Amino acid sequence: GIAAISTAAALTLTACGDDSADGGQGGAAQGKVGVILPDTKSSVRYESFDRPYLEQAFKAAGVQYDIQNAEGSVQRFQTIADQMITSGVTVLLIDGIDSNSAAAVTRKAQQQGVKTIDYDRLTLGGVSDYYVSFDNVKVGEELGKGLQKCLGDKKANIVYLNGAPTDNNATLFAQGAHSVLDKVSSYTKVAEQAVPGWDNQRAATIFEQMWTEHKGEIDGVLAANDGLGNAAVSILKKNKVAGKVAVTGQDATLQGLQNILDGTQCMTVYKPIKQQAEAAAKLAISLLKGEQAETNGVTKDPEGNRDVPSVLLTPVAIFKENVKQVVDDGFVKKDELCAGE
Ligand code: BGC
Repeated sequence: GIAAISTAAALTLTACGDDSADGGQGGAAQGKVGVILPDTKSSVRYESFDRPYLEQAFKAAGVQYDIQNAEGSVQRFQTIADQMITSGVTVLLIDGIDSNSAAAVTRKAQQQGVKTIDYDRLTLGGVSDYYVSFDNVKVGEELGKGLQKCLGDKKANIVYLNGAPTDNNATLFAQGAHSVLDKVSSYTKVAEQAVPGWDNQRAATIFEQMWTEHKGEIDGVLAANDGLGNAAVSILKKNKVAGKVAVTGQDATLQGLQNILDGTQCMTVYKPIKQQAEAAAKLAISLLKGEQAETNGVTKDPEGNRDVPSVLLTPVAIFKENVKQVVDDGFVKKDELCAGE
């Protein structure tokens, strides 16, 4: 009868659905991945790289996804998470604004049976199942070694412009940088400040105060990313000394790379975000399928006192002589890079 036919049709549909999501390898990827990115201002990376690379990876795997950006608002972050959980997301990938609010999101997700993956920033005191990032202490070491390479071993006054105090990565970057620079006996740290929210405007104000206070006697700026580095460069330009003071950065942004080619920034740390997005998508998909995910290490969460299974990738230091590496990797286009020249 009619009932029998519709049952058969439903069975066929289910089978077809499973087939397409499965991709022919193991269990079916059922459910949906939700991604929450932190903001659009602390770095161009989130909308220019993380989003498109994640989209690419999810599309290639044929999984459903929803990527949203909290625009720097902790409240918005939580609202997005709630909406995603209600709408049936089964794996949540989060790049938190601060650990407190992100930890609350991971706990809520866990109560609803939703798995979470910390993306780029570890949520201290959270309950995420996995962590995907770069080796962030290594990023800091590259910043320190880079600044040392640019300064040489002469006597030098150094200032630190650290990232947001609420971002665990910023702590690790500073830790890595100090582990290198504190050992150079000819260097003196004359100032160190964290920049709330990685805000570039604030960074310029902070650096200008440092410059005034130290009467321009600053030789090196350990800036934790390209945005902070460019803020320092803008003040150095105002004082007609850009290029005479070594400035570091991170993210291999167009602006940062152009500053390197101009000679106003000494180096940046390139993190191949495509690798990170692909690793995160792979983890998310194994969670969707209920399969064991592949990791390459663990990360200590000192607040939660636990080891989080992690995929940690390797950052690359970029100086004037190897900017081409970033172009060859397809991260920036040569004509874009050279348009500013
Ligand atoms: C990321 C950096 C980024 C910074 C500001 C850090 O957590 O690792 O790539 O520049 O946040 O958004």
